Amino acid sequence: MPERKQLVAGNWKMNGRRADGIALARAIAERAGGRHACDLLVCPPFTLLASIGEVLGGEALAGSAVSLGGQDCHAAPAGAFTGSISAEMLRDAGCSHVILGHSERRHGLGETDADVRAKAAAAWRAGLVAIVCIGETRAEREAGSAVAVVTAQLAGSLPENAEAQRLVIAYEPVWAIGTGLVPTNADIADIHRAIRSHIPSGTRVLYGGSVNPKNAAEILGLPDVDGALVGGASLKAEDFWAIAAACR
Ligand code: PEP
Repeated sequence: MPERKQLVAGNWKMNGRRADGIALARAIAERAGGRHACDLLVCPPFTLLASIGEVLGGEALAGSAVSLGGQDCHAAPAGAFTGSISAEMLRDAGCSHVILGHSERRHGLGETDADVRAKAAAAWRAGLVAIVCIGETRAEREAGSAVAVVTAQLAGSLPENAEAQRLVIAYEPVWAIGTGLVPTNADIADIHRAIRSHIPSGTRVLYGGSVNPKNAAEILGLPDVDGALVGGASLKAEDFWAIAAACR
């Protein structure tokens, strides 16, 4: 099987006004030029998608070196869901990807595996790649149940018709997100190996949780790690680029 091209994705979360977001996207796109050794993706807040889409190439976005993604979507295509955005709307705004089931939504907003599964089905209905996030809490890791937890999340969160080309898994230990803490390389490798046996062959599995320019080469060099989902460090073009430059 050909080696999976790595993907470095930036999750900007609820950060950035128009001017900051445009400047950041422009700095990333300028460095990206036409192509790069890994695929690049930025996921700005909903309010910035249209502007950032223009920066990344407007109508030529599909061929751009940097792709655009949403941070969440509703499961329904349209309707009376105040404050929500559908997968079709993301697609219409130029997105190719959507992050689903991030721990800040699972643990902060009570999203369940069933919610994530319905949203993944919606993403595919709209032609988006679903980046499905999974990961154990600190207590679950200490109890020795990390593999069991992520395996159960996969079973509950993935629709039955999952296919590698429209799915990315992001393994993000909850305790590593935004904390500066990172699992050992052996722990990352173990979990990624375990995840791989539960997903379609060829699916990319990203690591996420306090990835930064200093630890990127080590993490991205691990055999089953197909890229990184980056939060804090994706808000600085130089740091995001340093991480991308560490791809295999
Ligand atoms: C994230 O929120 O997806 C994430 C990985 O954040 P950070 O890189 O800041 O830990």
